[in-house]
Amino acid sequence: MTETVTTTTHPTGEPAQVPRLQNRMSHDTWLSAKIAEVRAHARAAVEAVVMPHAREIGTTEESVDSFPWKAFRGMADEGLFAAPFARPHGSGFDQPMLATCTVTEEIAYHSSSMAGVYDGQCILTPQALSFASAEVQELLVPRLISGQSVFSFATTEPDASSDLSVESMQTVLTATDGGYFVNGRKRWITNSVVADWAAVLCRDGEAMTMVLIDMKNTKGIRVGAPDLKMGHRGQLTADIVFDNAFVSSGYVLGARGGGLAVALSCLTRGRIGIAAAGVGVAQAALDLAVERLRTRHAFGGPLGKLQYWQFKMAERATEIECSRTLYQKAATRLDAEGGSAEPEAAMAKAYATRVAVDTVRDSLQIHGGYGFARQVSETGESVRLEELYRDAKILEIFEGANELQQWIIARRLIGRDVTG
Ligand SMILES: Cc1cc2nc3c(=O)[nH]c(=O)nc-3n(C[C@H](O)[C@H](O)[C@H](O)COP(=O)(O)OP(=O)(O)OC[C@H]3O[C@@H](n4cnc5c(N)ncnc54)[C@H](O)[C@@H]3O)c2cc1C
Repeated sequence: MTETVTTTTHPTGEPAQVPRLQNRMSHDTWLSAKIAEVRAHARAAVEAVVMPHAREIGTTEESVDSFPWKAFRGMADEGLFAAPFARPHGSGFDQPMLATCTVTEEIAYHSSSMAGVYDGQCILTPQALSFASAEVQELLVPRLISGQSVFSFATTEPDASSDLSVESMQTVLTATDGGYFVNGRKRWITNSVVADWAAVLCRDGEAMTMVLIDMKNTKGIRVGAPDLKMGHRGQLTADIVFDNAFVSSGYVLGARGGGLAVALSCLTRGRIGIAAAGVGVAQAALDLAVERLRTRHAFGGPLGKLQYWQFKMAERATEIECSRTLYQKAATRLDAEGGSAEPEAAMAKAYATRVAVDTVRDSLQIHGGYGFARQVSETGESVRLEELYRDAKILEIFEGANELQQWIIARRLIGRDVTG
């Protein structure tokens, strides 16, 4: 696997090579040769199709035109969208969740935004589609894998997200001839501004039902302008407004009334994926930090001579390794047993994303003013850290805020009779 990667820019404007420390600090020895192959292929593919666009993706303000099509289509062409699926259409991996998370980590190393786009298309949606009829799967899985169709997954509303109870859900499904009408509003929906299909969680009487909606060919759907966010700018989000949008009865995911279970099974997978993204982001920040500690001199020697930073970086490297092992363990359990892979999934999400935020903050600090700046205009010098700093924070919030993950862990630890 590649020993160095281009991520910073020298004072001359020339790209700088930064060593990929994962190669010497982390060993996937307990994983199968197949997963090592997945990592090697994903790394080469991401360097070819995501890395060249990553800075533009991370710094361009959101608009419909800024959807990262080149990176999206490149990932599809490299076969990365096939990872979660069985044959004949998919890669047919024995450990699809672990393989997909490994790809996610490799994408996030270069672009946390693109890992978010990939999570929507290749982690949340494949699980939702597994509840669709055989005909719907046969129609849509090949389109997803080829990148011909873009998918969204919509549970969040203006007044409901962490709390997905039926009492808080305002998007409503009502029965009509041959299917249902959907009315309501979803918020922050990834990929929605270009989506062809969306899996949507709706209130259905006293329960919830998830349906798959054809976004391009259904009347009564309006997608808002992309939200303007502090980070993850390549992961376009927007409101979707449904006004008597018709869904035929063949597009219910799972059983009527079983929508919450469908949504939660998707979000469990999503949170392992976000843990993997956190590891990629943390690793990128660590690699940049170590390069700076080796090459920046102060007080007669490299910054890395200062024991404060030696200890700090040793601690972060250990935490990153723990995070990687945790997401791999959660994914391995999920592949082996199905279910929710708790408490590992919640532990991985909360821990890895906190480590990402902490490592990015330390790396920015080590870079001083160069970390805070987008660019030194006189020289063209530019380090990716302001982008990583803006991007990392959302990992602690979406797909179950970290406090919710702690709650999941505590409920198992102390018992729901006490925690509620
Ligand atoms: C870039 C981005 C992409 C997104 N993509 C999607 C998408 O594709 N599909 C989708 O459906 N949604 C998506 N979301 C929504 C995202 O999942 C929610 O923002 C997130 O779940 C938090 O929900 P909320 O914003 O409504 O905050 P709230 O639910 O109001 O929570 C706010 C805060 O309250 C605290 N809190 C909540 N519950 C507890 C608790 N039990 N214990 C202690 N503290 C608690 C936490 O600190 C939490 O951060 C996205 C959001 C963003 C910003």
